[in-house]
Amino acid sequence: MSRLQEILEENDLNPKLAGNEIRCKCIHRENHSSEGGKGDGSSSLFINPAKGVYNCFSCGEAGTLTRFLDHLGVEPYEAFEIVTDLKEEEDVAKVIQEKEPLLHDCRRLSKEYLSRGYRRTTLRKFLIAEASTGVTAIPYFENNKVVAIKTRWINAKGDREFHVEGILERKKFLYNLDKVSNAKKIALVEGESDVWRLDQYGIPAVATLGTSVTLDQALLLLDFEEVVLFFDNDIAGESAAKKLYKALDSHINISFAIYSSNDPGDCSEEEALECYNNPSDYFEYSLTLEDTDLTDAQDFANKFNEVKDIPFF
Ligand SMILES: [Zn+2]
Repeated sequence: MSRLQEILEENDLNPKLAGNEIRCKCIHRENHSSEGGKGDGSSSLFINPAKGVYNCFSCGEAGTLTRFLDHLGVEPYEAFEIVTDLKEEEDVAKVIQEKEPLLHDCRRLSKEYLSRGYRRTTLRKFLIAEASTGVTAIPYFENNKVVAIKTRWINAKGDREFHVEGILERKKFLYNLDKVSNAKKIALVEGESDVWRLDQYGIPAVATLGTSVTLDQALLLLDFEEVVLFFDNDIAGESAAKKLYKALDSHINISFAIYSSNDPGDCSEEEALECYNNPSDYFEYSLTLEDTDLTDAQDFANKFNEVKDIPFF
């Protein structure tokens, strides 16, 4: 059973396979009250996993699969992983081929990120494009080839929404790794735009894409001599930082950026450079934490040490 089907089961949506689609209960329950005349919605919603879209034929609600998963409370990067896992390789190659030229069109840099102070040269380097009005396209590379493209926009309800074309194993991926793999020291951040911001300051960075850091991602970091953890200043960011510290500290040099903004994307150049050039050790970092319990981090480190020496894990 796919992760998507599991989620549908967990939410009691009663999924059933219908050809290439999955049919289930509508998630927009408010549209299916007894007076509305739109049926009870008990099996009126169709999901097309390969296209990454859904549609309720009874109430007419339709949208991207990522929006659907968001509605069920799935964390954005887990949704990202689920959606890309469902793609067929052949379809993907065609879509990427069609869309890639727009990424290279330097007249179409993302207006959103230009307005947020990202330089044209930075957006051009990472090929961050305006796919259509108000829609930003973010490509993901593996061995210098585009393997997936995320598009993001604000929907009619004012919420952020995104869609992914392509195949990307997020669990085994660090954003921007292929561009900085020769560096000895790097900053580790959560999101793509954090990478662009630090790059603008001359700091090489890779992103985990979310705070659910995986063992594979930790293994990839072993190739560096020093990693400065630059996660967001929130509980999830702290928890991820503690895990990587416990797993990697005995193998490579792990240090911490203590900075004042919420995430590195909002950090000033002066502060970011100071944090990167003179990072703090765990003792200093722990003084800034509300919760210094390392139990989860120790579990992660134990698993990491089990898999570390297995070839090709
Ligand atoms: Zn419906």
